[in-house]
Amino acid sequence: MEDSKPRIYLSPPHMSGYELEYIKEAFESNWIAPLGPQVNAFEAEMAEYVGCRKALAVSSGTAAIHLALRLLGVGAGDLVFCSSLTFIGSVNPVLYQGAVPVFLDSEPESWNMSPAALSKAFAWAEQEGQLPKAVIVVNLYGQSADMEPILEICHAYGVPVVEDAAESLGATYRGKASGTWGKFGIFSFNGNKIITTSGGGMLVSDDAEALEKALFWATQARDPAPWYQHTEMGFNYRMSNIVAAIGRGQLKVLDQRVQARREIFRRYEAALSGIEGISFMPEMASGRANRWLTVMLVDPVVCSIGVMEIIRALEKENIESRPVWKPMHRQPLFAGCQYFTNGEEESVSDRLFEQGICLPSGSSLSQADQERVIRIIKQMVKG
Ligand SMILES: *Cc1c(COP(=O)(O)O)cnc(C)c1O
Repeated sequence: MEDSKPRIYLSPPHMSGYELEYIKEAFESNWIAPLGPQVNAFEAEMAEYVGCRKALAVSSGTAAIHLALRLLGVGAGDLVFCSSLTFIGSVNPVLYQGAVPVFLDSEPESWNMSPAALSKAFAWAEQEGQLPKAVIVVNLYGQSADMEPILEICHAYGVPVVEDAAESLGATYRGKASGTWGKFGIFSFNGNKIITTSGGGMLVSDDAEALEKALFWATQARDPAPWYQHTEMGFNYRMSNIVAAIGRGQLKVLDQRVQARREIFRRYEAALSGIEGISFMPEMASGRANRWLTVMLVDPVVCSIGVMEIIRALEKENIESRPVWKPMHRQPLFAGCQYFTNGEEESVSDRLFEQGICLPSGSSLSQADQERVIRIIKQMVKG
């Protein structure tokens, strides 16, 4: 029976073995709370790893984006420019603040925010007489966006950048860590990310004062008074000490995880890229991706098969795969929002959504299991 084959997941958690040591420390010290020595140490270790002044550990990547938008003063009716090709967690915080997202297409070189679309959106906003309060740039599937031209355009208009590096921890751009290019950067430790704490996130910045303010908001905005006193609205967004203990154990092996995922990508590409109509997510020379997920494009005309057929066939063999993120400008939630494309006519993000498939890419994926996936795809796609 096909059902009896062990399931191959897209990107399952991969523990290192160090996590339990740190959890034991947390138990022995009885810091079972959303604060404690593990949280402080995890923040310090993350800041050191990515090379920024401060890091704030929070309950999710989405919470980290929300705090970043509040720090930038994003409020009701404000515009926020966002990558369209992304996960909803990038954009929901814009709605929490009552702001209005404007979506930008991808460029074909990195699949990330198109500088051409960004320029068009700024020209439009200037004409409308309302510049955005912030730009949220996503580093998709573990590859940094082309930050230099993006930052140049944003600086020219004096608009700050939030870098959504939820998928790109461990990647670099021009030798500097992904997530440290914007005014604020965010990471996610959700169960499917390159390292995980079960759930969690991190806000990073060189602006230590801003992160102090974010800490205040993330812990219910308690005024410095001997009783519980509140002048501002806050949130319960702090990371638990147990969760931080898991993160410390995971961070120790991050570089190995990047290595493993890059090797998985290399094997898929070596085995399948020779088939006509099949291609893979490109890697820009300016950066080094962590290859969080291997994404393959299938040209339906050349291959006479669509990605959904491949996904269903893999599912029959108990293998999990997924379409590429459905672009935000095509979500019912965002009907009526502005969208700017990379070129005159073609929308790159739409094409990537229609032709893209995320293949099993977990760092614990065995070579035998990967060969199973490759065999099935080869049988289906003749080119
Ligand atoms: C996972 C993810 C998020 C959200 O992170 P959570 O920790 O799940 O809240 C945001 N943006 C992108 C691009 C993501 O992949």
